[in-house]
Amino acid sequence: MTFPAATILGYPRIGRRRELKQAVEAHWAGRLSEPDLEAAAAELRGRTRARLVELGLGAGDSSIPESFSYYDQVLDLAVAVGAIPHRFEALRERDGSIPLAAYFAIARGDDERPPLEMTKWFDTNYHYLVPEIGPETVFSPSGDRFAAQVREARSAGFVTRPVLVGPVTFLALAKPSSDAPEGFRPLDRLDDLLPVYAEILADLAEAGAEWVQLDEHALVSQALGASDAELTRAAERAYEALGAAPSRPRVLVAAGYASLSDEAWAALAAAPIEALALDLHRGPVPAPVPGLAEKVLVGGVVDGRNIWRGDLRAAWERLQELRSLGARQVAAGTSTSLQHVPHDVADEPDLAPRLRSWLAFADQKTAQAATLGRGLTLGAEAIAADIADADAALADRREAPGVRDGQVRTRLGRLSPGDLARPSDAERAAAQQDLGLPLLPTTTIGSFPQTAEIRRARARHGRGELGTSAYESYLRDEISRVVELQEELGLDVLVHGEAERNDMVQYFAEHLQGFAVTRNGWVQSYGSRATRPSILWGDVSRPAPITVGWSSFAQSLTARPMKGMLTGPVTILAWSFVRDDQPLAETADQVALALRDEIADLEDAGIRIIQVDEPALRELLPLKAAQQPSYLAWSVAAFRLATGGAAARTQVHTHLCYSEFDVVIDAIAALDADVTSIEAARSRGEVIDDIAAAGFSHGVGPGVYDIHAPRVPSVDEVAELLERAADALPLRQVWVNPDCGLKTRGYDETVESLRNVVVATERVRAKVAALS
Ligand code: GLN
Ligand code: ZN
Repeated sequence: MTFPAATILGYPRIGRRRELKQAVEAHWAGRLSEPDLEAAAAELRGRTRARLVELGLGAGDSSIPESFSYYDQVLDLAVAVGAIPHRFEALRERDGSIPLAAYFAIARGDDERPPLEMTKWFDTNYHYLVPEIGPETVFSPSGDRFAAQVREARSAGFVTRPVLVGPVTFLALAKPSSDAPEGFRPLDRLDDLLPVYAEILADLAEAGAEWVQLDEHALVSQALGASDAELTRAAERAYEALGAAPSRPRVLVAAGYASLSDEAWAALAAAPIEALALDLHRGPVPAPVPGLAEKVLVGGVVDGRNIWRGDLRAAWERLQELRSLGARQVAAGTSTSLQHVPHDVADEPDLAPRLRSWLAFADQKTAQAATLGRGLTLGAEAIAADIADADAALADRREAPGVRDGQVRTRLGRLSPGDLARPSDAERAAAQQDLGLPLLPTTTIGSFPQTAEIRRARARHGRGELGTSAYESYLRDEISRVVELQEELGLDVLVHGEAERNDMVQYFAEHLQGFAVTRNGWVQSYGSRATRPSILWGDVSRPAPITVGWSSFAQSLTARPMKGMLTGPVTILAWSFVRDDQPLAETADQVALALRDEIADLEDAGIRIIQVDEPALRELLPLKAAQQPSYLAWSVAAFRLATGGAAARTQVHTHLCYSEFDVVIDAIAALDADVTSIEAARSRGEVIDDIAAAGFSHGVGPGVYDIHAPRVPSVDEVAELLERAADALPLRQVWVNPDCGLKTRGYDETVESLRNVVVATERVRAKVAALS
């Protein structure tokens, strides 16, 4: 049984118009029954299969991945193997199965139980749910959703390939349960988990699956806390066992997001499985190793993570190179699942046709894989015209106006290291003295609640129902309210509230040259949530000031310092689709230069404190340890290029949305911001000790309450966290702020919470005054 000539490793599951989001959210709200939800999902899966055949995959040859998920693929696996945390056990059926209601409760939490934690899936902007595994976890098959989908496809005339997170990756992505003893690692449970996988494989075979795909992306990552050697040993054990499983479909092990370590590559090539998929976009064609003559190799030459049409000729050549390894068969594929890209370029009528001709979303990428597969089967001549078309599009893109902007390049070329350096600490401290800030200054992270009214006004303005001057005067009223509220609460450093921003990246993308915004380009970020990343296609420049009008209006309303609020270069890149025709570092510098101009204009307008948010700094960290230093070097340099022109008297803040500092702590210090606010409340301030140990010399604002939940922290709670910070760090360095922006919160809880923050701060101030 051969493998098809082309495949994709997974397809977006949210639907072209986010149908799954609508159905799932309607179900949560009680407006759609469970059977109706199941029916909507089945219909979506049916449409996906039909569409993939239309795009060139085969209906009956296992080239179509069965990669649907209601919420998350890692949660799907946890539920399939019965590995749910203790607190959810009560939601199981008597027969041991885990109903859909329990699945959603584990994903979202309920009144009594917090949900699983969520974290980034490799170096993407997709978030998975983190399984909690301990010595007490019982693995047992609990339901048959995967097999049911195979049967559903069969009965509609399709032989599809179910896609499951593989056992090594499942455990490597898990965290120890709260009952686990010190030193326990989920990967220690591999041998107990494998028999359950074997059972699932048997069920899939019985349901009619001829191939199964096991995603083992953990084998490419050096960022999961397990060594290459450890992961390789686990993979050897896993595939020795699963290969020997008595009744199973053929197994394709897929490794995306980077290249396999040499040892993992050798181990998988020798394992008793039938096929391997490699990410040839992020890594080279590996060296020949024993065992390949028995294997199918799927060359992931179509980039699954970006939206460019790309270089089809180079992809074809890489497949030829892969062929030279002497495998039994070479097939064409995507480097990762296509879940990271939107559905279809044809859904973007507003984009300039020329830009559109350079793009490929999931549907176009599927067609590219199919084209390459045709070439593999019929020979290069069969696809010569396609390759010529792709060449022409690439050439057109290289030449098109705006892709390269001489002025931007000249300016960047003239920069010198001095442009990245701010005045000395002493000079800055002296020049900022007149800001007149008290000990333990209080502030917020930037956004105030984005009320339904604000969103409605923006939508009406977008549709042309609300004129620009009426909209702007509405926003000015909103800003005035927010400023007044903060004065009344007694905060020290104020913000304007960001009411004018739909999103902290898109807002800037809409105002910068070089970006385009899509209409339907949704990409799942977690569960039912999707974002619409902008497309960064050309050299970046700033046609006009962006935030200066709003910030200076806000400053005119108060005598207290008003923070100017910008999104940093790395975050703008991380949350956009970036160009693939130059190093990311160069693109980052272009964005940084535009921000540098914005900062100069803010200063001219009398803004004394400017915050440049970099919540995504850690998220782009490469999976390979060897690539991390250079990433950290250029990302820090981009931030410093943005902020390095600020005068000594300007206080530069930054904000980071996480509390795992480990490898990035030196980089954070190197940003050289005067004040850094970070998330701390969810971990009860644990990060404060790390910061203290690292010897941070500037201001630090460890969040004193968690803004992710709609609950009001008590004065005592806030005071306790604040005291912890005040004990661990030099008092002069400590700032008081929430964990993150307040845009997702309601006004009632926000006002009460901030009131408690101010009271708690006064209490701690009084206490330290009494001690000194
Ligand atoms: N300034 C932004 C806000 O307050 C920061 C958001 C973020 O860190 N994600 O909304
Ligand atoms: Zn944040």
